[in-house]
Amino acid sequence: MSPSQLWHYVRQFRRNRVPGQLVVQMTDRCNALCPQCSMRITEHFKRHRLGLGPLKRIVDNAGRRRIQAISFTGGEPLLLLDDLVAMLNYAGAVGIPYIRTGTNGFVFRHPERPDFEDRVNRLAARLAATPVRNFWISIDSADAATHERMRGFGGVIAGIERALPLFHAHGLYPSANLGINRNLGGENSIPVLPRHHSADQAADFSAACEHGLDRFFRFAADCGFTIANVCYPMSLSEAAAPGEMQAVYGATSVDAVVSFARHEKALLFDGLTRAIRANRSRLRIFAPLCSLHAMEQQLTGGPRGYGCRGGIDFFFVDAVKGHTFPCGYRGREDAGVFGPEDSGPAKAGSADCYQCEWECFRDPSELTGPLCELFSRPSRLLRRMYRDPQFFRCWWEDLRYYRACGFFDGRQPADVAKLEAWAGAVNPLRPYRRMPAVGSARTAPLPVVGRPPIFVGRDRCDRRAG
Ligand code: SF4
Ligand code: SF4
Repeated sequence: MSPSQLWHYVRQFRRNRVPGQLVVQMTDRCNALCPQCSMRITEHFKRHRLGLGPLKRIVDNAGRRRIQAISFTGGEPLLLLDDLVAMLNYAGAVGIPYIRTGTNGFVFRHPERPDFEDRVNRLAARLAATPVRNFWISIDSADAATHERMRGFGGVIAGIERALPLFHAHGLYPSANLGINRNLGGENSIPVLPRHHSADQAADFSAACEHGLDRFFRFAADCGFTIANVCYPMSLSEAAAPGEMQAVYGATSVDAVVSFARHEKALLFDGLTRAIRANRSRLRIFAPLCSLHAMEQQLTGGPRGYGCRGGIDFFFVDAVKGHTFPCGYRGREDAGVFGPEDSGPAKAGSADCYQCEWECFRDPSELTGPLCELFSRPSRLLRRMYRDPQFFRCWWEDLRYYRACGFFDGRQPADVAKLEAWAGAVNPLRPYRRMPAVGSARTAPLPVVGRPPIFVGRDRCDRRAG
């Protein structure tokens, strides 16, 4: 980090602001079949893409506002490879240091064809010649056949396994990007936990989450990934007033495979925490434990973490009009074209948004929250440390781990020796906290797929991997 960058961060923190982030949806076109997403190829609606002119204006303004991280998403960004490469270069030229993009993996189909290596080498060389820092590949399941069925891309896992060493040879280390779903550890590996459940059922559910995620991380490492990120199940708060939230784009399909009720999510985050701890020596896993802790607390009525910075320091630009929103899920707050001026919080109180668990904005909000308070409101930080010391233990552990991971620089290989040091630190999966029984005890096995809770479905390709 350069001294000027460091000074910029300190100045931001003193103003109670954090380094800015922009997610730009280049297009809502996609060629995948994901059952959970309304942008899948089988959905019929008018598709859009942002042209190079509007994209450059957005990136110019991001540079003027000293936005630090930009993600180019879709739909499927690699359908617009020429534009994507141009914008990755352009974002670098205006001085944005953290540039990210990704793919649903369609380019890795047909590894059996003789031109496969040439094709992948050309792609890797083009991307590696840009200043892109992180390039993610979406992976839905630890079971290859399940992933391929969900995406509609037969043979793609074998292609990814062949492609990763080629990317590494070009100095690009892609991340495995998991959108949490009930098939993540294999078909139907995460059962449905009924609202009225016993402590044993809760324990079974938590264990299924932990083992499925553990299997996923091992699978990603075996495929050749060195970085992984986890996208939490997207659901709008049950406390939100009806109609208060509206996804910016048409991510309104609901599918049981990605829908988790509030009582399930707290246990899911608990299992995810343990699976991450068990695999931190294997992979560079971005998902921060402090954020999981904060969201688990929020879901179980404990102290709240830091408010999400969506609409203040983080923004989402849609592919339909190129307009700005606080995030992908506050579609009623259209702020128009992303301008050159930082107008501050879009509305009073928006600093306190906790309405969803979109990791793209929630994770960096939790990670930067203590630094921001240290410089702007230290007494509040001290009160928070007293109230929730576990958050700060997790936060400190995250910082030390992030350092060992080289801060997830996808242009550098993993430092195996530094990561291995975390094997000894593995907290042998802290024992499951038995939850009090809720409702009537049931002894029957948990159903594998149930009626989905009424949540907004999500697209998992609209975010970054660490
Ligand atoms: S989740 Fe991503 S890859 Fe799948 S249909 Fe949606 S945009 Fe396409
Ligand atoms: S918590 Fe963040 S991402 Fe979620 S709705 Fe609020 S501002 Fe948007």
